Amino acid sequence: MDIVRKEPHHGWIEVITGSMFSGKSEELIRRLRRTQIARQKVQIFKPLIDNRFSEDHIVSHSDMRIASQNVRNSDELVQQVAEETEVVGIDEGQFFDPNLPAACNTLADRGKRVIVAGLDQDYLGRPFEPMPQLLAIAEYITKTLAICVVCGDPANHTQRLVVSSDRVLVGATGLYEARCRHCFDPHLAEAAKTQP
Ligand code: ADP
Ligand code: ZN
Repeated sequence: MDIVRKEPHHGWIEVITGSMFSGKSEELIRRLRRTQIARQKVQIFKPLIDNRFSEDHIVSHSDMRIASQNVRNSDELVQQVAEETEVVGIDEGQFFDPNLPAACNTLADRGKRVIVAGLDQDYLGRPFEPMPQLLAIAEYITKTLAICVVCGDPANHTQRLVVSSDRVLVGATGLYEARCRHCFDPHLAEAAKTQP
């Protein structure tokens, strides 16, 4: 008897995650460039909150860049994705709402390759929602590491260098640096609170 196979649908979720300066945006841009070279239909998004370097581009700390669209939330993202789009790139996943994993599932179920980059931890080393939920449902996960600026070991942490207890404090050089588990000091961002 012949085996009846379903047609493949091609959709899946890839997540690129790690600390700041670990090369998440570079890796996202690299993957998206290849799909553009292969003339696949690609749409690239970032949350409106992140306009650090550019309004309409994803820009890495090494100045690699690729054109992107701003969206306010994951609902708007799903609405913006055209029927014929084959690949969806998303940067700064940690700045999205809790519906991002469901939105990525919807797109992957529609046959799209969804690639999301985002921080896995906040400045205190706590899992940064909604990335943990996204990691749980992704088919592929790439963990990127920076280099600890204090000792040179692989850096899994984002060290905040200024005093602030806001979870979201947008910025890069001077505000944050990459550190390994031994050199990471979550209390540094809270230091002034204990000193009158
Ligand atoms: P992410 O998106 O993870 O914040 P990017 O892709 O924007 O990272 O930037 C990665 C680039 O950051 C590296 O190629 C390098 O040029 C630069 N960089 C700055 N500090 C460091 C560090 N401590 N370790 C590694 N790369 C660093
Ligand atoms: Zn270190």
